[in-house]
Amino acid sequence: MMILVMKHTATQADIEKTRDQLKEWGHETSLAPGEQQTVIGIVGDKRDIAGYALHSLPGVEQVLEVSAPYKVASREFHPTDSIIDVNGVKLGGGNKVVIAGPCSVDTYENLITIANSVKAAGATMLRGGAFKPRTSPYSFQGKGEEGLKMLAEARRETGLPIVTELLSEKDIDLVYQYTDVIQIGARNMQNFSLLKEIGTLGKPVILKNGIASTVKEHLMSAEYVMAGGLRDVIMCLRGTRTYEPAFRNVLDVNLVPYMQERTHLPVIVDPSHAAGTREYVSSLSYAGMAVGADGAIIEVHPCPSCALSDGDQALLPEDFSYLMERVNKLEAWDQKAWVKARGDAKL
Ligand code: PEP
Ligand code: MN
Repeated sequence: MMILVMKHTATQADIEKTRDQLKEWGHETSLAPGEQQTVIGIVGDKRDIAGYALHSLPGVEQVLEVSAPYKVASREFHPTDSIIDVNGVKLGGGNKVVIAGPCSVDTYENLITIANSVKAAGATMLRGGAFKPRTSPYSFQGKGEEGLKMLAEARRETGLPIVTELLSEKDIDLVYQYTDVIQIGARNMQNFSLLKEIGTLGKPVILKNGIASTVKEHLMSAEYVMAGGLRDVIMCLRGTRTYEPAFRNVLDVNLVPYMQERTHLPVIVDPSHAAGTREYVSSLSYAGMAVGADGAIIEVHPCPSCALSDGDQALLPEDFSYLMERVNKLEAWDQKAWVKARGDAKL
C-alpha cells in the first residue's frame, strides 16, 4: 500500500480531487483523517502506481509506502490514535474503558446484579457470553439467543452497551441483532472467513489474540477485518500459552506499548483469561492499565462457584469495586509522552 500524506493546508476539495483522479486510474483509496494531516491510502501494489505523478496531485505533500505487512491497521497509515465510539462511550486516544461482566450469561438475576454493581464501580460496558467456545463438547456451550435477550434487557436497564462473542458465521444475523460490540475470541483469531465477513458489517469488534499468536499475526487478523471496510477494531491482549503451568496463560504487558506504537487501534488487556485465577486478576488488571492500555475486559460474578464457565477467574463485585478505585487513581504510563520528552524521533 502506498500512502499520500496531504499538506496541512490541503482542502476537502483537494482531497476529493486526488481521490477521484486515483479512481479514474483504477485505484480504490481509503482515508485516514488526522488532527493535523489527512492520509490517503492507495490500495494495491506499488508497481501498479509506479509512473503516476502522485506528487503533483492536489494537496499532496509526501508519497510513502507502508512498510508493515498490515496496512490499514498500521500507524504509518493512520498516525493518530483511532477513537471508537460505542453508543457514546469512547475508547482510544486517551479514553480508557473498563468492560466487565460474567464469562457466560446464566440467570437474569445474576446478570443484572453484576451489571448494576460494575456500573456503580465505574465500568462503562457490559460483557457476557451467550455462545461459548469450550474445550469440551460436553461443557456448557452458552445460553444462545436467551442469553442475548438477557444482555439486551440488562442494557435497557443500565444503559451499558453490551459486548458478546460471535463464534460462528452461522450466528451472525442473530448476534448482530442484539449486541453493540462483537467479540472475536482467541480460538477464532485466524478464522479468516469469519474475519472477512465481519469486516463488511457495521459493528465494532474486539479482536482477541490467539493462544499462541505473535503480535504480527494478531495485527494481520485486524487487517483482515479492516480490509472489508470496518475501521472500529479493538485489539485485546488475553495472554498466550507458555511453558509456565502456574497460570492459565501469561499476559505480556510489554506488548501494550509495543502494539500501540505499531497500530492506531485501541489496545485493551484481558487479565481474567491470562491469570486464570481470581487471586491475580486485580493486580494484573492494574499492571495492564498502568502500562498504558486503553482499557480492560474483566470477568465478574457474584457467585463464582455457581458460574457456568470460568468461575475460578471471576472477580467478586466487591473485588471489582476495589480494583476500580485503585485504577481511577492511577496515573498510567504514557509512552508517547515519554518518547517526546526524550526528544528522539524514533527509539
Ligand atoms: C471469554 O472471553 O470468555 C473467552 C472465551 O475468551 P478467550 O477467547 O480469550 O479464551
Ligand atoms: Mn471466560
